[in-house]
Amino acid sequence: MRQRIAVVGGGPAGLTFARVLHRHDHPVTVLERDPAPDARPPGGTLDLHEKLGQLALDKAGVLAEFHALSRPEGQAMRILDTDGTVLRDWRPRPGERANPEIDRGQLRDLLLGPLDVQWGRGVAEVVPGTGDGVLVRFADGGEETFDLVVGADGAWSRVRPAVSSATPNYTGVTLVETSLDDVDTRHPDLARLIGDGSVAVYGVNRAIVAQRNSGGHVKVYAQFRAPLDWHLGLDLADAEAVRARLLALFDGWADPALDLLRRGGAFVHRPLYVLPVSHTWAHVPGVTLLGDAAHLMPPLGVGANLAMLEGAELAEAVAAAPGDLDEAVRAFEERMWARAGRWATITVAGLERLVSPDPTDALALFDEIQAS
Ligand SMILES: Cc1cc2nc3c(=O)[nH]c(=O)nc-3n(C[C@H](O)[C@H](O)[C@H](O)COP(=O)(O)OP(=O)(O)OC[C@H]3O[C@@H](n4cnc5c(N)ncnc54)[C@H](O)[C@@H]3O)c2cc1C
Repeated sequence: MRQRIAVVGGGPAGLTFARVLHRHDHPVTVLERDPAPDARPPGGTLDLHEKLGQLALDKAGVLAEFHALSRPEGQAMRILDTDGTVLRDWRPRPGERANPEIDRGQLRDLLLGPLDVQWGRGVAEVVPGTGDGVLVRFADGGEETFDLVVGADGAWSRVRPAVSSATPNYTGVTLVETSLDDVDTRHPDLARLIGDGSVAVYGVNRAIVAQRNSGGHVKVYAQFRAPLDWHLGLDLADAEAVRARLLALFDGWADPALDLLRRGGAFVHRPLYVLPVSHTWAHVPGVTLLGDAAHLMPPLGVGANLAMLEGAELAEAVAAAPGDLDEAVRAFEERMWARAGRWATITVAGLERLVSPDPTDALALFDEIQAS
């Protein structure tokens, strides 16, 4: 008899897991809290690495479709000094496909393909060790039992407490995100500044980064070190008040960088949290975690990549060992923990250098990455 498998969360981890299982003709129940795929803005662009996210897409059988949709030119990166001087202007070689960019919404739709997701099925709690398997309690009061529940429900996972008491900690760095639409026609000067990929300006303990998405959409991130309550007395829903506070924070920077904030629309507050580096847990039969639920780390271009590769690898392990599901999951966890621990160490150190008292740290990090 086929095992009853559920994945909680339809993000990069959960959808890749489900899509690879589907490719192996293994049934899987996908439980997603959002009421519909487009219920909220999907977020910015993701760069998918050849040996991580792209490998996962290959395992899902959709790598060719990814290549057709993705933007290799989006790998371009320009770095400015706070006075507007161009310090680096890196462009990918023709045919360079190491880390092409794709919009999150496009990636979601690509992975969704034939999957039958149960939308609007928020999970409240997971209880392992009941006589009939692992009990899933839903936010609407319903219950269902499975042989394996995979928590791919992100930073604030409701599945995680079934295996671990760890909770995310604030890094001391906050992002405030805004966006520009139709940049090529409405803001041609900023379109030239951003180019085909990203532009970053690094100052003392703060940075402004802008990334081109498809269709002339640009996401802008103001990044700064601040206590969690930096916005006390500020209404975060009041775009003009947030803009004024940010412009004061970046006072003295050259106009092109500040224009990215002046012309942005609404602002979204994203304090950065992380799980402890090398987060592991005592194996619990019938429950495991993937992606941010397992190893939330600073957003230095690897979280979705790891989440997807883990999803693909766990699905392959499950499909190859339907008779001994628990042993397959246990072996997968060991592999995931080792790899995620290495990346967590790298990204935590990277965040220290990108938002640093010495902005030359960020430049040096960029040079090291380009050289490697
Ligand atoms: C600004 C920013 C830029 C980034 N850029 C990159 C990048 O370029 N490359 C990269 O690799 N990574 C990047 N990341 C990191 C990346 O976004 C995450 O690591 C990745 O989304 C993790 O995928 P996931 O599937 O584990 O979790 P998520 O993407 O968080 O997906 C979790 C899913 O679970 C659902 N869910 C949550 N709770 C429940 C519940 N109780 N019941 C049911 N469903 C639930 C959510 O609705 C969501 O659909 C970036 C992050 C940020 C913040």
